[in-house]
Parts: sequence; C-alpha cells; structure tokens
Amino acid sequence: MRAELQRTEKLQVMGELAASIAHEIRNPMTVAKGFAQLLQQRSKDDTTLRYTGMVMEELDRAETILSDYLSYAKPKMECVQIIDIKQQLNHVINMMGPYAEAEGTTIQCHMEDGLYIVGDERKLCQVLVNMIKNATEATDGNGRIIINSYPFEGNAVIDIIDNGIGMSIDQIQRLGHPFVSNKEKGTGLGMMVCFRIIQAFQGKIEVKSEEGRGTAFSIKIPLAPENAGSDRSIQADRTIVKQ
Ligand code: ADP
Ligand code: MG
Repeated sequence: MRAELQRTEKLQVMGELAASIAHEIRNPMTVAKGFAQLLQQRSKDDTTLRYTGMVMEELDRAETILSDYLSYAKPKMECVQIIDIKQQLNHVINMMGPYAEAEGTTIQCHMEDGLYIVGDERKLCQVLVNMIKNATEATDGNGRIIINSYPFEGNAVIDIIDNGIGMSIDQIQRLGHPFVSNKEKGTGLGMMVCFRIIQAFQGKIEVKSEEGRGTAFSIKIPLAPENAGSDRSIQADRTIVKQ
C-alpha cells in the first residue's frame, strides 16, 4: 500500500513536470525539424539525405515521447460525450488496420451494437491506438489481433487479444510503470498513459498473458446510464487486475 502511494506520488510529480516543460521543448524541436526538412530538400548527396532523414526520425521520436507525457499530464476529459463503442472501434481499426497489415498482422473484430459509454472519445481513441500498436509490435509474421466488444456487469468491455510474444509475470507487474520498455525504440510510456486515461473513465484494464502464446487485455468502462440495462453478463476469465 505504501509502495503504491509512493508510486502515485512519483507519477503525479512527473505529470506536473511534463506539463511545465513539454510545450517549451516542442517549439525549438519544430524549428529544428523545419530546418532538417529544408536541408533534405536541397541536399544532392546520399549521405546528407540519410543523415537528415535520421535527424527527422529522432525528432519524431522525441515528439512521440512528449505527446505521451502531455497526455499523462492531462488525463482529464476535455470533451465529454456519449461514445458509441462500435463506431469508435471502427474508426481506430480503419486507422490502424493498414499499419498492422504492413507488419503482417491481421485484425479481426466482433463488436456488439448499441454499446455506449460517457467520456472524451479522443482519449479512448488514444488508448486503443496505443494498445493495438503494442499488440502489433508483439506479433511477427502471422500475427493476429482479435478485438471484441460487449456488455458485461454494467461495463462496456473491449478485449484486445493477440497471439504475440506475451509477457512474463515480472513484465506484467511492471506494465504501466514509466520508462519500462522491452523494445529497442520503446518509450515505456504508452501503457502508463492507457492506465491513467481508463482510470479517468472510472474503468479498469485487466491483463492475462503467457510468454510465447500471447496477451489478452480487457478494458472495462461503466456503461452510459441509459445503456446499462443491455448487460448480458457473460462469464470472463481474467487473472491479473492492474487497477
Ligand atoms: P513501449 O511500447 O514504448 O515499450 P508501453 O508502455 O506501450 O511502452 O509498453 C510497455 C511494455 O509492455 C512493452 O515494452 C512490452 O514489453 C509490454 N507489452 C505491452 N503490450 C504488450 C503486448 N500486447 N504483448 C506483449 N508485450 C506487451
Ligand atoms: Mg507502446
């Protein structure tokens, strides 16, 4: 409990820090990227082209880290509305499908109609993008991601299941801790942001994973009040609850 409190406090401080410096860092980065782009357009030799490309790639990476930080600092809903889960999932899948496909991963969906929650749809979108990206990165070759959405015990449930590399118990326990990444170019911030956003939705994220077999994430968010009657309560089997 004490460790949990310390962790919350640490994350809080980090969020505040992020809010105060991220904007300031973004501006000079945008300028630097602009000049790198100019250089690239004018360069005639391959080496300069390659180096400016690398500069821009790294600046993009820094931009991703900053965006993740900023979302962490601002998990609050800015635009609260009724969200149609199926519509939102379709939107995200249209966005992420081509990326997953390019990586050799297919996405299959089973979405129930008439599932509504209340919140900021851009935040939900960010969570889904982060998690589908992770699922894609976890698979290689014949990757498969299954996305299901359905009502259960007063919640809208979104399952994101992949047949990727899976996680060890230790990795699961450290999931959502800042900067904990097992990827060469990972930031280790994506899941931290996901947990925080879903918490702001009054929901939770559960995870079940097995090394070498895959991972099943389950996002549970309370149904919109007028929607709660549609619950069909299907039995689920999830082991580790992170929140
Ligand atoms: P990043 O993707 O930058 O590494 P995240 O916070 O998104 O940071 O994820 C943290 C870590 O959690 C990843 O490096 C990976 O080891 C693990 N992880 C997250 N999602 C999955 C998944 N679907 N399958 C396997 N490992 C995962
Ligand atoms: Mg990630």
